Amino acid sequence: MSKNLTSRAEDYSKWYNELVVKADLAENSAVRGCMVIKPYGFAIWEKMQAELDRMFKETGHQNAYFPLFVPKSLFEAEEKNAEGFAKECAVVTHYRLQNDPENPGKLRVDPQAKLEEELVVRPTSEAIIWNTYKGWIQSYRDLPLLINQWANVVRWEMRTRLFLRTAEFLWQEGHTAHETKEEAIQEAELMNNVYSDFVQNFMAIPVVKGLKTESERFAGADETYCIEALMQDGKALQAGTSHFLGQNFAKAFDVKFTSKEGKQDYVWATSWGVSTRLMGALIMTHSDDKGLVLPPNLAPNQVVIVPIYKGEDQLKEVTTVADGMMKDLRSLGVTVKYDNRDTLRPGAKFAQHELQGVPLRIAIGARDIANGTVELARRDNLTKEVVPSEGIAMRVKELLKEIQESLFNKALDFRDNHITKVETFDEFKNVLENKTGFISAHWDGTAETEDKIKELTKATIRCIPLDAKEEQGTCVFSGKPSTRRVLFAKAY
Ligand code: AMP
Repeated sequence: MSKNLTSRAEDYSKWYNELVVKADLAENSAVRGCMVIKPYGFAIWEKMQAELDRMFKETGHQNAYFPLFVPKSLFEAEEKNAEGFAKECAVVTHYRLQNDPENPGKLRVDPQAKLEEELVVRPTSEAIIWNTYKGWIQSYRDLPLLINQWANVVRWEMRTRLFLRTAEFLWQEGHTAHETKEEAIQEAELMNNVYSDFVQNFMAIPVVKGLKTESERFAGADETYCIEALMQDGKALQAGTSHFLGQNFAKAFDVKFTSKEGKQDYVWATSWGVSTRLMGALIMTHSDDKGLVLPPNLAPNQVVIVPIYKGEDQLKEVTTVADGMMKDLRSLGVTVKYDNRDTLRPGAKFAQHELQGVPLRIAIGARDIANGTVELARRDNLTKEVVPSEGIAMRVKELLKEIQESLFNKALDFRDNHITKVETFDEFKNVLENKTGFISAHWDGTAETEDKIKELTKATIRCIPLDAKEEQGTCVFSGKPSTRRVLFAKAY
C-alpha cells in the first residue's frame, strides 16, 4: 500500500476509509459491520469519555450498569420503541452449542437448549432500565433519578462505515426520571447543551442545536433534541441526541411515584446518547490529505519530540535537552512523547506523526543545541519555524490553545459558508448538486412533504434549529404557508 492517502477531492469516502486504517484508529473485523478500535483510536475515544464523564457528573449524574440482554417481553412493552427498533435487533434464541453429528469437527446449536424467552441484544436500554426503575422509584424523594451508563449496543445496520455507522457501537446513554414534565424537558435541553458545549469547545466542531421532526424522532420519544454538524464534503452528521420521553416508558413499565401532596402519578423521563460516531465527526471535520488533524484537547500526545542525530554521543546530548523540555511541558499539563526509536529515520517519523495528527512536533539536532533553538512544526496549518528553546514550554502551551481555537474557527467558517437560504425547489436541487451543505428553507410542517423531498433528493430535515426566528414564508416544495425555516441536508 502506498504511503499517501487518496485525496479528498479525488474520492472523499475512500480518503476517509484509508485515513481511519492508516492512522491506526480502527479496522474492519471478522464480524460484518463490527470494527476493531485500535489503541491509538481508543486513546482518543478515552479522552472524549473522560471529559463527557466529568461533565455528566458535574451536572449531577451517576454511572451504573445494566444487562446487555433484554427479555423480549420487556422489549415489546413500549410499543413505539419496540416497533422502531425491531427491524435491526440481534436476538439470542439458544444458550448452548454441541458437536454436530453430521459434520465432524463442527458445532451446531443444541436444539434442546432453546431459550424459553428470547433475549434481544440491546439496541438501546430504555426497556431494561425502566423495568429496573419500577423497583427504585416509589416517592418524590426518589426523584430526580439521574443515571448514565457507558456501554455497547447492537443495531443490525445494513450499510456500515467505520465509526460512523457500525452494527455494534460504544456509547453512553443517560436515563433520567423526574416528577414533572417541565423538569424532564429541562433535563433533555440541559443535556443537549452539554453535548453542544462538549462538541464545540472540546472537539472544535461547530454544531446546530435543534429539534427533530416527528418522522426523524427517536422511537418512543415525544421530542428529540439534537446537535447537527457539517462534514467537509458538505454532508451533515447527527452528532448527538437527547430525548424527552414523556410518560411513555413510565406507563409501559408502570413506574409511579407518590407526590408531596400524596397523589400517585407516572414519572417523566429523558434519555440521551453520543457514540463512537463522534470519532467519525472528528476525522471528517478537521483532517486533510496528509491525514488526521487533532484538536489538542483530544490528542493522545499533544507534542512529539524527534531527535536528529548522528551517533550515540549526539543522541545523548539531544536526549538531555529533550528530557528537560519534557519535564517543563509536563509540569504545564502538556502531554509529550519522545520519539527516539532507532528503527526509523526522522523523515519517516515526521510522516507518521503527520498522519496521526500530533498537533505539534519539536525537532532537535546538534546544530539546534549549539544555537539554543528547536524546530517547531504545527500539524494544523503545516507551518514550521525555528524558535529559541528557552521558554519553549510556555510557547507550546499557548500555541496549543491557539490551535484548538483556530481549528474551531476554520470549521465554523466552512459551516457558515455552507448554509444556503433557498426559496424555490429548483434552487434547493441546485444547491444539492453543486455546493451541498445545509439548506435553510421553509417547510409546511407535514411528513408528506418531508418524505417527498427525501424521495426526490435524498436530503432530509436535519433539524428545526432552536434559534430559528418566526418568519412568514411559503414551503419550498408545496408552496403552503410556513412560519420558520428548517435545515435540510444529505446526511451520513
Ligand atoms: P439514538 O439512540 O438513535 O438517538 O442515537 C444515539 C446516538 O448514537 C446518536 O448520536 C446517533 O447519531 C448515534 N448512533 C446511532 N446509530 C449509530 C450507529 N449505527 N453507529 C454509531 N453511532 C450511532
